Amino acid sequence: MQTPALTDLDSKYLVHPVSNFRDHQEKGVKILTSGNGAWLTAADGNTYLDAFAGLWCVNIGYGQQRVVDAAITQMTTLPYATGYFGFGSEPAIVLAEKLVSMTPSSLQHVYFSLGGSDAVDAAIRYITHYFNAIGKPTKKHIISLQRGYHGSSSTGAGITGLPAFHANFDVPTPQQHKISCPYLYRSEFATGEELIAASVKELEDKVAEIGADNVAAFFCEPVVGSGGVIVPPKGWLKAIADTCKRLGILFLVDEVITGFGRTGKMFACEHEGVEPDLMTIAKGLTSGYAPMGAVLMSDEIFNGIADGPNKAAVVGHGQTYSAHPVSAAVALEVIKIYEESMLAHAQTVAPYFEARLQACLAHPLVGDARSIGLLGAIELVADKATKRQFDPALKLNETIADIAWKHKLIFRAFGDNILGFAPALCFTESDFDALFERLQLTLDEVLELDIVKQEM
Ligand code: PMP
Repeated sequence: MQTPALTDLDSKYLVHPVSNFRDHQEKGVKILTSGNGAWLTAADGNTYLDAFAGLWCVNIGYGQQRVVDAAITQMTTLPYATGYFGFGSEPAIVLAEKLVSMTPSSLQHVYFSLGGSDAVDAAIRYITHYFNAIGKPTKKHIISLQRGYHGSSSTGAGITGLPAFHANFDVPTPQQHKISCPYLYRSEFATGEELIAASVKELEDKVAEIGADNVAAFFCEPVVGSGGVIVPPKGWLKAIADTCKRLGILFLVDEVITGFGRTGKMFACEHEGVEPDLMTIAKGLTSGYAPMGAVLMSDEIFNGIADGPNKAAVVGHGQTYSAHPVSAAVALEVIKIYEESMLAHAQTVAPYFEARLQACLAHPLVGDARSIGLLGAIELVADKATKRQFDPALKLNETIADIAWKHKLIFRAFGDNILGFAPALCFTESDFDALFERLQLTLDEVLELDIVKQEM
């Protein structure tokens, strides 16, 4: 039950991630109480269709008892083992080997974190250590994408290319740089090829400007997620990976969202045969059933650190809960579910999702529809011909989310009125039918708003 007391306690005591503190206190919390498959029940007693898999993480859907059982078994036998001082646990070791076998062959070693932000943070620490260890201490600068998201750790937030994560936090640092996001819909380019060529040129120019001897790495998501589900043209990731190699800078691919079947392959890198130097993962690794992330790295980086001038000392990076055995046991069971059937199911239903998403273009509000696998978005515009956006001051996205909630539908309404969808991989055609029926009702109601009519 959602009691007023609980709502009051929330606004009094609980600081919510990425929230406007005062707005949240005013609006109050929406308390979720249980989940099953693609569906969530809230404390108001209603059932909602979750078309965003929690926070694009519950890829296997809610209520998978076998994952719960795996956690209980591990918790009962050994709830915790440190990785410090030479200790370890079986599930973590088996999981490390499993991840190396599943990911591109360039990746050979795994460090476990608690989520995505600290996986990125660990990557930055290891990259820094590596270049110092191999005698290239000037290689410290990192380039990433405008609109990219790489978490909110104290330095990682500066690699993120979203202004809300910078304001008042004193990032980016002078060593963190951005190039344009490969956002065809809002670019000056008519074709994907032109955009790819421009992106490569921009990266080359940026490296030249900073000096190749000073650039450590380029970070990107294969599909920009929190920046608005921006699917780059086919070939972009490969062209950028090849450019990094040619320029002698490390290539880190952040698969925190795109990993574990989200884009129709186990990892998005596989679409283009890309072999990164580092990869960060989280979310779908445990499908949100327990906290865990990881950074995978190449032999070259691992050996550079292991055999550097500091080789007699410990590498001082660690966390109490790195390689947590319960999270590892959960991850192993979740991966079994993907491999046994769920990835194949997601591949089967993805064309239906894509077709229904593309059909949204018929709606007067929808200027763009884009997707890859079960990751997609529609972009609402005030004028389709000019792609004019609604005035951000209207905060229309918040109204859209409220209207969708009224229609018992959950998705992510980004600030620029991009509506993002990341349905669990277990979605059936009838779940998609419910999604698009409720979305239609939502869009029709949005179209009738006075603030919308005035802008169109
Ligand atoms: N990288 C990417 C690409 C992400 O999408 C996210 C989270 N949305 C992160 C890193 C940070 O992960 P976490 O929230 O688990 O710290």
